[in-house]
Amino acid sequence: MLKKPLEILLVEDSQTQALKFKLMLENHGYQVAMAKNGLEAMTMLLNRPISIVITDWMMPEMDGSELCHAIRKHEFGGYVYIILLTAKNSKNDIIEGLEAGADDYLTKPVDNAELIARLTTAERIISLESSLKQRNKEIALLSITDPLTRVFNRGYLNENLPKAFKRAQRYASPLSIVISDIDHFKTVNDQYGHQTGDMVLKSFANCLSRALRKDLDWIARYGGEEFILVLPETGLDGAKAAAERFRGLIEKLETKTDKGTIQITSSFGIAAVCDKTPSKGLTAEDLINAADQSLYQAKQNGRNLTIGTSL
Ligand code: GH3
Ligand code: MG
Ligand code: MG
Ligand code: MG
Repeated sequence: MLKKPLEILLVEDSQTQALKFKLMLENHGYQVAMAKNGLEAMTMLLNRPISIVITDWMMPEMDGSELCHAIRKHEFGGYVYIILLTAKNSKNDIIEGLEAGADDYLTKPVDNAELIARLTTAERIISLESSLKQRNKEIALLSITDPLTRVFNRGYLNENLPKAFKRAQRYASPLSIVISDIDHFKTVNDQYGHQTGDMVLKSFANCLSRALRKDLDWIARYGGEEFILVLPETGLDGAKAAAERFRGLIEKLETKTDKGTIQITSSFGIAAVCDKTPSKGLTAEDLINAADQSLYQAKQNGRNLTIGTSL
């Protein structure tokens, strides 16, 4: 597949010089956008991402050094690599340019081969920056994800359930949680082995994840084969209906494994705070404890049941 040509923003007030550079850069396979001064350049950068800027130093309205400052002040999606072109070549001017935020500089008249070589460096740094950013995103996601089931982990729950709880109290809106615990899961492990147990666990978590309201509800692995489902803006009745729906889905769920098709059931304990709940002193932990007690009752009453309580 052909690589899309990399775009360069050329900022130069002299039209003759600008056209000369444009032609040369296009001959080397770059796509070139042009601006007559720093202000025009900033407007273009704010409109669409361009990762390499070659800018003249002396320009009306906003000069090269001011443009460097403006670019560095703004948070763009990716890194903007700046090459400053300057007729000045005194050490102080070069220092000023670099301090303003330029990554590199070239003094005019510019040697084409040198500019192209410097652009190769620019491309390398931009690609390094973007792969680092991508990697950081992946690490951030991994740090809140349970590796087996791919739902949020306990750390995420510990940090975000209290936030959801405080939000609900601040806006006097209801909030429910549902704790699910697979029934007789030890038997699955004993009968089919731990690996097959893992497969069942994965398909269980996957089924519940897909049953949630997108972008509002979320699920985290609480431990072992216990999961907590967080249902914001949902009171006890809504949560009971949701949990009944989850229970029905799990009961029908068939996990195909090399040891055959496995079916399980799960018990669900619900706890809700509603807008009438006096907020004094209650915490997310109280909500978890209440849901745990409901779950215990569901187990006591025969399993494959949903039981709920309001705080
Ligand atoms: P109950 O109906 O009372 O919940 O019975 P149970 O057998 O499910 O009992 P309990 O919830 O106390 O035990 C959970 C079992 O889940 C214990 C453990 O062997 C198993 N388990 C926990 N985490 C994992 C896991 O990551 N993979 C597998 N395969 N099994 C797990
Ligand atoms: Mg100029
Ligand atoms: Mg358990
Ligand atoms: Mg269990």
